[in-house]
Amino acid sequence: MRVAFLGLGIMGRSMAANLVKAGHEVAVWNRSGGKDVEGARSAVSPADAAQGAEVVWMCVADTKAVEAVLFGAGGVEQVLTAGMIIADSSTISPSATRRFAERVKARGVDYVDAPMTGSKIAAEAGNLIFMAGGDEAAIARLQPLFQAMGKQVFHMGETSKGQATKLVMNLQIALIYEGFAEALTLATKLGVDAEKLLPLVQASMVRSGVVDYKAPFILKRDFSPNFPLRLMLKDIRLALDAAKESRVRLPGLEAVEEVYDVAAEEGQQDLDYASTLTLLEKWAGVEVKAASK
Ligand code: NAP
Repeated sequence: MRVAFLGLGIMGRSMAANLVKAGHEVAVWNRSGGKDVEGARSAVSPADAAQGAEVVWMCVADTKAVEAVLFGAGGVEQVLTAGMIIADSSTISPSATRRFAERVKARGVDYVDAPMTGSKIAAEAGNLIFMAGGDEAAIARLQPLFQAMGKQVFHMGETSKGQATKLVMNLQIALIYEGFAEALTLATKLGVDAEKLLPLVQASMVRSGVVDYKAPFILKRDFSPNFPLRLMLKDIRLALDAAKESRVRLPGLEAVEEVYDVAAEEGQQDLDYASTLTLLEKWAGVEVKAASK
């Protein structure tokens, strides 16, 4: 298929590369220069990338970025053609997604919100899991692209239901990780070795994919960004906004937001969200490490 891929960050670059690898004709664009993908045409604007494309796929930071890419200067809106599909793998506001979809639908363009879970390693390996919102037929047309970038697609309902689902997924990841980080901190303070604790956690009902993913990085003290803290904080805020709009109370997530706020103030926004552990460590006066190191 002819695909425009917009946004070559941690996730987007690998996703676009996997589309090229699967034989699709790909044009890529990124806001700042110097990022390209071997085998893809580098475009000078979102509109340039989208010119003549059957599908425009976005993976940018936040709601404002999606709005700029679609409707700003040099945006995709300039070259919309009936029958085109816009797919968005950024994590953004569900209500803004509905607005964006309505605006392009007036031009005969389908809009599928397709946020994903799996982080950097899954993006590289083409193992992402997508949660899609939109028309069944449009999602079916996107199957070859989903297959090139991921291993599963869950159709969650109409446009915006993918984004709503993504917020509740990240709500759980944020709470699970913070529980794990607090447990590691207290364990260390009580003299329990993290390396001994981990196999027990994973053998028990506490077992989690979040622990599988994050534990090796923690033991290496590698907090370089797989999922930057600033983006998880954005998602926590999106979930809290959605909760407020729908009169739902999320006291656990509010407490986690405070930890992230402090971490961001301390300059950790571009580190992985796993680095919130270092704040807990600082407050406790300990450092979680592998006893074997
Ligand atoms: P990233 O590495 O920070 O990349 C963000 C991308 O958005 C970059 O290409 C950036 O361009 C672009 N961008 C930012 N503001 C923009 C604007 N105003 N206009 C146009 N482009 C703009 O982020 P990422 O980790 O790839 O994540 C991308 C999206 O996927 C986010 O919504 C994130 O929440 C979601 N997500 C991430 C993960 C993960 O584990 N990393 C997992 C699932 C979902 P520049 O290069 O010019 O800054």
